Amino acid sequence: MQCFFRLLLAGVFAFAVLTADRTKAVTVSIDYSFDSANFFGAGNPDGAAAGIQARASLEAVAGFYSTLLTDTLSTIQTPADFHSSDFDGVVTWQWQASFTNPGTGASTTLFDETIASDEYRIYVGARSLAGSTLGVGGPGGWGWSSNPSGGFTQGEINQINAISDAFSDAVSTRGEATGFANWGGVISFDNDAGTNWHFDHLTSPSAGESDFFSTAIHEFGHSLGLGTAAEWNSLVSGTSFFGTAAVSEHGGPVPLDCSGTCSGHWAEGTTSVVLGTAVSQEAAMDPTLTSGGRKRLTDLDAAALTDIGWTVVAPTFSPGDFDQDGDVDAIDLATFSTGFGVNSSGDADGDGDTDGGDFLLWQQNYTGPLSPAIASVPEPSTLLLGALASVGMLIQRRRPS
Ligand SMILES: [Zn+2]
Repeated sequence: MQCFFRLLLAGVFAFAVLTADRTKAVTVSIDYSFDSANFFGAGNPDGAAAGIQARASLEAVAGFYSTLLTDTLSTIQTPADFHSSDFDGVVTWQWQASFTNPGTGASTTLFDETIASDEYRIYVGARSLAGSTLGVGGPGGWGWSSNPSGGFTQGEINQINAISDAFSDAVSTRGEATGFANWGGVISFDNDAGTNWHFDHLTSPSAGESDFFSTAIHEFGHSLGLGTAAEWNSLVSGTSFFGTAAVSEHGGPVPLDCSGTCSGHWAEGTTSVVLGTAVSQEAAMDPTLTSGGRKRLTDLDAAALTDIGWTVVAPTFSPGDFDQDGDVDAIDLATFSTGFGVNSSGDADGDGDTDGGDFLLWQQNYTGPLSPAIASVPEPSTLLLGALASVGMLIQRRRPS
C-alpha cells in the first residue's frame, strides 16, 4: 500500500514537471561573450549600475519570450568522428554559426558550438551604431559539412548517412517539421553618447529617454524572425503581411512600413493590444518608439510569431501584474494609482474597478525590491513626440523637432 502510494506520488510529480516544461519549452538564452565594451557591466557609458540594469532588462525580455514560446528545438551538437571498423575510413563533421559580431560589427563565425535542446541563443553586445540607430537584431546564419576519407562498408555508409541527416535537421530546422527555427541570433545596442537610454525595466522612462526594454522587445522580435526570416518574407505580398493569425488579429492584411522596402515592420502607427490584455498600444514591431514611452509585445506581434512558425502560448500573470511583464512591481503600482477610482486598469480581483482590494492583491503578490520606491512612481510624462524611425531591421531615433 505504501509502495503504491509512493509510486503514485512519483507519477504525480513527473506529471507536474512535464506540465511545467510544456509551458516553458524554449529557453531564450543570452550570451555576453561578444560584449567587448562591457556594456552590460562596468563599461556601460552611464556607469556600472546602469550596466547591471541593462542586463536585468535584457534578462527580463529573454524570460518573457521564453515564457511565450513552447516549441521543441533539438540539440545542435557536432557528431563524434566516425571510424570504420573494417577499413581506413574516417568521417568528421562540422557546423558553423555566422553572424555580425555585436561588439565590433565584423563578420564572425563560430565552429561547433553546442546549442542545448530548446535553447535559442542570442549573442548581445554594444557598439557605436551609425547615425541615430538604437539597435540592430536578426537571426544568425548557419552551415554544416561532413568530411569523409578512406573506405567504409555499406552498413557503415548507411550509419554515416543517418548521422548526417540528423545533424542536418538539427542545424537547419532544429528538428521541427515546418516554420522558422534556428540556433539563435544576434543583437547589438548603441553605446555612443547620442543615445539617452533608460535602462531600468522596473521604472518607466522619462521624457527624452529611449527605453532599453522596449528596444530589446523589438530587437528580440527581429532575432526570432519577425521582419527578418524567410518565413516572414514568404507572407509578404505588395505592401501587406498575409500571415493567417496576424490577418485575423488585425481584421485584414496588415499594412507594412514601406519607407524602405515593404518588409521588416508593420506600418507606422499600427495598433493592437498589449499581449493578453485589452490595453491598446502601438505594435512593438512598427518602426517607431516615442521617446519617454514603453512598448510591450502586442497580440499582433505575437500572432506574427505564430505565422512564421513559433508555437506561442499567452502567458498567465499574477493578480497585480497589470502590465503583464511577469512581475508585480512599482510600475504596476503606478498603473493602479492612475486607475484608482477612475477605471479598471488596476483591477487585480476582476470586479471591474480599481480600489483598495486591488491594492491588497498588488501588495500580496509584490515581487519587486523589498522597499518599493513609492516616491519614484512615474508621473504622467509630457507628450514629447520624438519619433523613433527605423530602416530595415534597425530602430532609429530622430531628435524631437
Ligand atoms: Zn526594427
